[in-house]
Amino acid sequence: QTPSLQVTPQPGIMEIALYEAGSATLSGRSDVLKLSSNENPFGPSEKAREAVAHAAQAMHRYPSTDHARLRAAIGEVHGLDPDRIICGVGSDEIIHFLCQCYAGPGTEVLFTEHGFSMYRISALAAGATPVEAPERERTTDIDALIAATTPATRLVFVANPNNPTGTMIETAELERLALAVPQAVLVIDAAYAEYVSADFDGGAELATRLPNVVMTRTFSKIYGLGGLRVGWGYGPRPIIDVLNRIRGPFNLSNVALEGAEAAVLDRAHVDHARAENARMRDWLAGALTRHGVPSDPSHANFILARFADEETAAACDAALREDGIIVRRVGGYGLPECLRITVGDEAACRRVAQVVGRFMAAR
Ligand code: PMP
Repeated sequence: QTPSLQVTPQPGIMEIALYEAGSATLSGRSDVLKLSSNENPFGPSEKAREAVAHAAQAMHRYPSTDHARLRAAIGEVHGLDPDRIICGVGSDEIIHFLCQCYAGPGTEVLFTEHGFSMYRISALAAGATPVEAPERERTTDIDALIAATTPATRLVFVANPNNPTGTMIETAELERLALAVPQAVLVIDAAYAEYVSADFDGGAELATRLPNVVMTRTFSKIYGLGGLRVGWGYGPRPIIDVLNRIRGPFNLSNVALEGAEAAVLDRAHVDHARAENARMRDWLAGALTRHGVPSDPSHANFILARFADEETAAACDAALREDGIIVRRVGGYGLPECLRITVGDEAACRRVAQVVGRFMAAR
């Protein structure tokens, strides 16, 4: 007789709901427009593609363990000390390192009501208690976060701009939060920072000056390299030193390292993606508003389209799918009446506006 399973997972693990990524396909269609994962419609830099092909030649070799070249390139572009940078398998891995190192049983990890799902997953994986603070009209509320902190709070995650709301708060507000929670690390998740403006620093200056602030960034969004899985964190040396202790020595592949290095150095590609995103984001938000679907001003590469209720959002989602367009339902983020729509290229935005317009006219 086969013995039965006698091992059980650590407390907290079974509270984690399996992550549901935006799907990429619709059965029976080849003309699918995927606007569910905030990917760059222009893809990666040509230079990154070439670097990836080149790096793949050496796939029998282990990659760099210290990521020195990638950190130097990031440091040069952003004017940051490379010794205060850590690279990971997407910024997801940096979030994971932070929870593993600073949270655990008996501690709390704080984030906002509509915050990114990985914060809860990583907090529970570390055995910590996830705590949600309310937002104000889909915008981060610093007073609510401060009110929700306790002596057990070890980490506070704030995405700026936030996903899935697209809204932003002032850097001065983040500083106020950091100073109010000296017993915790404030993590400023700046995954969408490049979309804000060319000179927005994503919280780098705060992470340079304050002892308890870490900024995380990603190559998955404006760099168009979601499939390579590269992200990075920047913060005080003692914190980066702690995170490096649990980082696998070969966490990033040759291909990922070289692709990301070429990508960060290609500023023209980033500038083009930022400008086109801003242009089409404004156009799409305006078009949807005229069709009776408002959204908050977005600073990222997506729009949170708001419908009268959950049923209308679901029906519009179905109408979009009928037309081969995949967007993101965000009920899991506490926003069942909304659809998160990635800003695609001009043709994609026109296609979305047309379907939503037709749907709303028929209501
Ligand atoms: N933070 C935020 C706010 C995000 O939206 C995402 C991606 N959805 C991430 C972090 C993680 O991105 P990655 O692991 O691809 O770097």
